[in-house]
Amino acid sequence: MKNYHAPDEKGFFGEHGGLYVAETLIPALQELADAYKAAKNAPSFWEEFHRDLKHYVGRPSPVYHAARLSEHLGGAQIWLKREDLNHTGAHKVNNTIGQALLARRMGKKRVIAETGAGQHGVASATVAARFGMTCDVYMGADDIQRQMPNVFRMKLLGANVVSVDSGSRTLKDAMNEAMREWVARVDDTFYIIGTAAGPAPYPEMVRDFQCVIGNEAKAQMQEAIGRQPDVAVACVGGGSNAIGLFHPYIGEENVRLVGVEAGGLGVDTPDHAAPITSKAPIGVLHGFRSYLMQDENGQVLGTHSVSAGLDYPGIGPEHSHLADIGRVEYHAANDDAALEAFDLLCRFEGIIPALESSHAVAWAVANAPKMGKDQVILVNLSGRGDKDINTVAKLKGIEL
Ligand SMILES: *Cc1c(COP(=O)(O)O)cnc(C)c1O
Repeated sequence: MKNYHAPDEKGFFGEHGGLYVAETLIPALQELADAYKAAKNAPSFWEEFHRDLKHYVGRPSPVYHAARLSEHLGGAQIWLKREDLNHTGAHKVNNTIGQALLARRMGKKRVIAETGAGQHGVASATVAARFGMTCDVYMGADDIQRQMPNVFRMKLLGANVVSVDSGSRTLKDAMNEAMREWVARVDDTFYIIGTAAGPAPYPEMVRDFQCVIGNEAKAQMQEAIGRQPDVAVACVGGGSNAIGLFHPYIGEENVRLVGVEAGGLGVDTPDHAAPITSKAPIGVLHGFRSYLMQDENGQVLGTHSVSAGLDYPGIGPEHSHLADIGRVEYHAANDDAALEAFDLLCRFEGIIPALESSHAVAWAVANAPKMGKDQVILVNLSGRGDKDINTVAKLKGIEL
C-alpha cells in the first residue's frame, strides 16, 4: 500500500519509532537486530516457531461465529478470533515463544521481562521454563500488590519477581528498570519486551511474531465464508495483538481496520489510556517516538483503564503511522461499554473474555446493529477473562 512504511532501516514507521536509548544500549540493540535479521531469513527458525505454536500453544486458534450475540444485536455477523484459547490464555505467548527461540539462538541463558498486570510476566516465565532459562520479571510494587495471583503463577513457573519501587511503581517504571538491568548484564541476558513497542527492532519483531493471528484469520475466513470480513477489530494497549491481526490485512483495502483504545471514564476526562483518540502529541518513552499522553512540559501523564493490560500512556509506533496515513481508524471504548460487552459475551456465547478484549467486542456491540446482516465483523478476542473475575466482582459489589 502506498505511503506505508514497514519500517525503514532506522526502525521508523513514517515519523514514529526509531531508537532513542542510552549509548550503552546501542551495541545490545545492534546485536539483537543482527540476530533477528539472520533468524528472520532462516526457514529453520520459523519451523521451530510454528512447531511450538502448534504443539505447545495449541494453534491454530479457531475463528468462531458468535451467532447468538449477532442475532441479539440484530445486524452484522460477529466472528471471533479465539486467542483466548491459547496456552496461558492470551496472544502474548506467540511473542514470548518467538523471542525465547531467538534468545536461544543467541546463546543467552537468562531472560528478563517487564510486566504490568502480570500477563506478559507469566508468558515470559512460561517460555523460560519451557526452554530452561532463568527469568527475572520486573514489576511495579503497586502492581505486585494488585496482581497477586499472577505473581504467584510466575513464582510457580520458577521466575524471580523483582519489585520496582521507583516512580509510580507501575508498568512504566518496571520497563525503565528492566532496560537498566539489560544494560548491566547484556552479555548473558535477553530482554523480552511484551508489546509492539520499545526501541527498534522490537516493534517490527513483535509484530512479525504476532502476525500469525492475521495470517491464520485470513485463511480461516476464506474457508469459513469464502471471503474476508468487512471489518477487523482489535483492542490496543501497546498494540501487539492489534498489529498481529491488522498487518496481514494492510494491503487488503476492502477490509476496514479498527483499533480500540481504552476510553476509561471518557477521553474528554483525564482518566483514560487513549493516546491516539485523545490526540496526544508525539513524545519519546521507552526508547521510541510515538503518540504519547503527556502534559505541556512533556511529563508522562497517569492513565486509567478498567483493564490493566491497556493501561499504558503510549502506543506502538506502527499504529501511530497507520493512524497518520489513515489505513487504520482508532476509536475508544469506555470502561462501562467494555463491561457491558464482557457481560454480553458471557451470557450469549458462554465465553468469559479478558477485559482488554472486551473493548474490541464493545466496538462490535455498538456498530453491528448499524450494519447489514450480510456484513461481517471479525473481532480479535485477545485473551480470556479468568484473570479478571476479581476485578469484575468488585465492580459489581460482589465479595468472592
Ligand atoms: C496485554 C494484553 C493486551 C494489550 O496488549 P497489546 O500489546 O496491545 O496487545 C490485550 N489483551 C490481552 C488479553 C492482554 O493480555
